[in-house]
Amino acid sequence: MMIDVQNPATGEHISSIPVFSASDVSAAANRAAEAAKSWEHTAASVRAVKLVNAASLIRSRQDSLAALLTREQGKPLTEAKSEIMGAAHVFEYYASVCGSIRGDAQNLPNYGYLNVIRKPVGVCAAIIPWNMPAIIFAWKVGAALACGNPVLAKPSATAPLTVQALGNTLHEAGIPTDVLQIITGNGGETGRALVDEPLVRHVSFTGSTATGREVGASAGRNLKRVHLELGGNDAFIVTKSADVKRAAAAAVRHRFYNCGQVCTSAKRILVHESCEDTFVAHAKDLIEQIHVGNGLLESKMGPLNNKDQLVFVSNAVDNIVSRDEGTLVTGGERIEGKGYFYRPTLLRDVTPEVVSEEIFGPVMYVIPFRTDDEAIQIANSTKYGLGSSVWTDRLAVAHKYADELKAGVVWVNKHLILPPEMPFGGVGDSGFGRENGMDFIYEYTEAKSILFG
Ligand code: NDP
Repeated sequence: MMIDVQNPATGEHISSIPVFSASDVSAAANRAAEAAKSWEHTAASVRAVKLVNAASLIRSRQDSLAALLTREQGKPLTEAKSEIMGAAHVFEYYASVCGSIRGDAQNLPNYGYLNVIRKPVGVCAAIIPWNMPAIIFAWKVGAALACGNPVLAKPSATAPLTVQALGNTLHEAGIPTDVLQIITGNGGETGRALVDEPLVRHVSFTGSTATGREVGASAGRNLKRVHLELGGNDAFIVTKSADVKRAAAAAVRHRFYNCGQVCTSAKRILVHESCEDTFVAHAKDLIEQIHVGNGLLESKMGPLNNKDQLVFVSNAVDNIVSRDEGTLVTGGERIEGKGYFYRPTLLRDVTPEVVSEEIFGPVMYVIPFRTDDEAIQIANSTKYGLGSSVWTDRLAVAHKYADELKAGVVWVNKHLILPPEMPFGGVGDSGFGRENGMDFIYEYTEAKSILFG
């Protein structure tokens, strides 16, 4: 069976991908387990060189990879190119840490001499969503390979082609074909089979909270490690000590980037009541200048990735407006035509409870607050906790928010910056475990203690 991949801006058929059945997944896992035997014993320096080579090849192909990403995912070419270059940088980072993945040694009087060595965890599964397929592929695959594991990477059926192309590029760079395999198909069949596969010992999943629960339950039943990076409903807090125009420009940039389809987008914009009018006026101005269109044609914002997303976003906005739970400032409608386009939208004076669920699309909702304590209470009132930001010129205010916001990441006068050195992940319904950073690379290893008598 094959699945069609379409351009969300035009409806054009781009390509088809095969659907891996449960037995195909099992065969791939067996090949990976066999390949693990030599990959595990490949010197760290050799693994590092292959990852560096992969990064160089990705950089040299940035234009074609970015064009492919735009065609299947919808984002503007400039965003696609920066994501591709970001993926190359992530492979360079993981190349740099290969040689630092090491154990420990300790002399224990009366017991003996203890060595703790780090063994690869085994076959890893990387389940990748459609919103940022290149960078999320690099995070998961880079970490798994650096630690000496084979990895089966499953892209989303609506954006699988860039991941396939990156996979081929890594193979050309010297990563053996059975050490990295791209497993295509839809989530319900292929994704589920991959998570259930007994030979898979580590699952790293990015996607919705609902699917994350299912993936976590399966991993629990099969006693395998799991890392879940799920939805977010992040607060972007503009305090009364913020540079309001700078904050408004950043909020617009980080809300409409990738058509609002990022787990750590600036989703709930909390603005001190004293500067709400200035913030809204400035944001409206910037939002109305966003040129929406086919990402291949110099637009600043592309379409939503698929029809389900368009319907969800459109219904969410219609509900808020029709129930008088927020005031529409600009946007609020589909752009008619073949693609899944939605006008960049701004709502103000939104009731906080209304937006407790994330809206994964180009919709900014401004919620006014009176005191810092109230802002923190509103920010912490969702079940999610991925990445929030606070905008202020006062250090003490920054510290208060950084300490009290429930989130895996807090940015101060920044948003949506995720260097590979920085552990990234959430609390609550945003999942658990962390991606990136030296501390969390050990999730891809097993500690083995050897006590010498
Ligand atoms: P999903 O969680 O369904 O998909 C994410 C990935 O998981 C895709 O590769 C998908 O494959 C796969 N998958 C789906 N079902 C299973 C399963 N049972 N077992 C294993 N893998 C599975 O997200 P959606 O695409 O449906 O998006 C829905 C919402 O999720 C968005 O509106 C947004 O709120 C959130 N989301 C969050 C993301 C994030 O970055 N945290 C990214 C994407 C979505 P396939 O697509 O082929 O079905």
